[in-house]
Amino acid sequence: KASEQAQKRGWHLYLVGGAVRDLLLADPDETLLLSDIDMVVDGFHRSADVGAGVELAKALQNTYPEARLEVHGQFQTAALLWHLDPVLDSLWVDIATARTEFYPYPAANPEVEASSIRQDLYRRDFTINALAVRLTSPRAGELLDFFGGLRDLRSRQIRVLHANSFIEDPTRIYRAVRFAVRLGFQLETQTERYIRYALDSGIYERSLIQNSKAPALQTRLKAELKYILQAPYWKGALKLLGDLEALKCLHSTLELDDQLWKQVRLLERCLRRFDPEKTLDHWQMRLEVLIAHLAPEYRPKVAKNLQLPDDSIKRLQQLDLDQANVAESLPACIHPSEITRVLKQYGLPTLILIAVQSQRPIRRLIWKYLTQYAHIQPPLNGNDLKALGYKPGREFKQMLDHLLAATLDGEIRDRADAESFLAK
Ligand code: ATP
Repeated sequence: KASEQAQKRGWHLYLVGGAVRDLLLADPDETLLLSDIDMVVDGFHRSADVGAGVELAKALQNTYPEARLEVHGQFQTAALLWHLDPVLDSLWVDIATARTEFYPYPAANPEVEASSIRQDLYRRDFTINALAVRLTSPRAGELLDFFGGLRDLRSRQIRVLHANSFIEDPTRIYRAVRFAVRLGFQLETQTERYIRYALDSGIYERSLIQNSKAPALQTRLKAELKYILQAPYWKGALKLLGDLEALKCLHSTLELDDQLWKQVRLLERCLRRFDPEKTLDHWQMRLEVLIAHLAPEYRPKVAKNLQLPDDSIKRLQQLDLDQANVAESLPACIHPSEITRVLKQYGLPTLILIAVQSQRPIRRLIWKYLTQYAHIQPPLNGNDLKALGYKPGREFKQMLDHLLAATLDGEIRDRADAESFLAK
């Protein structure tokens, strides 16, 4: 339908980006579910046609009124969103207008068409993402491969399109790693050199990444980090980011050393054990462990730059004090009730962050608290106390605390024990 609408208007329409890559990589015997489709419309000759992408999306929405239309930027791009069934999730179709302002030639000239889509593809990140399939005739179905994307798909290489690509946009380092690990591709040698060069150049220290005045870049960097850290292949991707020393993009002092790896592994054990229902954002906890590896004074700034939620920023800001308190108080605790008194003031994410960074004796006590003590309840609760004639108030609260402490320490095992404890 999209190509019919484009054809009718004398435009050219292309399928571009990830959909072309994934179609070419797909096993022909398997059904490929695309949830994100990018198209580019091109080949127009009147300035009014600058909004071609939007016009096309609107025309499609008339045909598919169930789709939601969104217009982005300076009327150059539009997206249609279908909410399909819960299994298939949703389908995004982005329709962009190819940039043609540098090509003021008559559209009848095929060179113009070619140079305009070529230019659009040249702005992209890697050769495998810079392929297009023409959807309009003549030559509908033809693959446009200006930069050797097909060769790189075959030889499984992530190759950047130009030398200063990573200097221009550091999120591409994270994208390169993501695609390499997800697809099982190699970073092409020269591309890896460009990445290392960009990182070594120190540009990020001066650049906008660590500067809160660059929200757009930070938003994209956070999106890439989230994408990586919540993917099934996150460990391999993190390893590659560490090998490339690309965590420098978050903070110039951040390195994936052995200690941090150990903490990442401990985090996974904690998340599996204490949050099997995934009530926490696991990707965000991974990121918090990375940030917590920084010196305390840098943690809140990096968390803010990455636009983490307020509770997460606060947690990282407080972590230093909380760690010190736990390290100082816990070794003196003998009874479970004392351990509980120290630890119960902290939420699960803070306890996990403290545990992964602590020495084994402290970690064991936190583990014990989370696996056992935190779940223990006294045999009498507030309602039972009321039924026994006690009036709610400060003393009432203290009685409950004493009941809990005695239960934790094994002095109370059942209701009868609790009642005689109260009588004393
Ligand atoms: P995925 O399946 O992971 O979504 P994708 O290739 O569709 O992969 P998107 O992030 O949706 O990835 O981007 C769509 C296309 O836009 C890419 O294929 C690429 O051509 C281009 N692109 C995205 N981000 C960048 C970037 N930072 N620099 C250059 N081109 C980019």
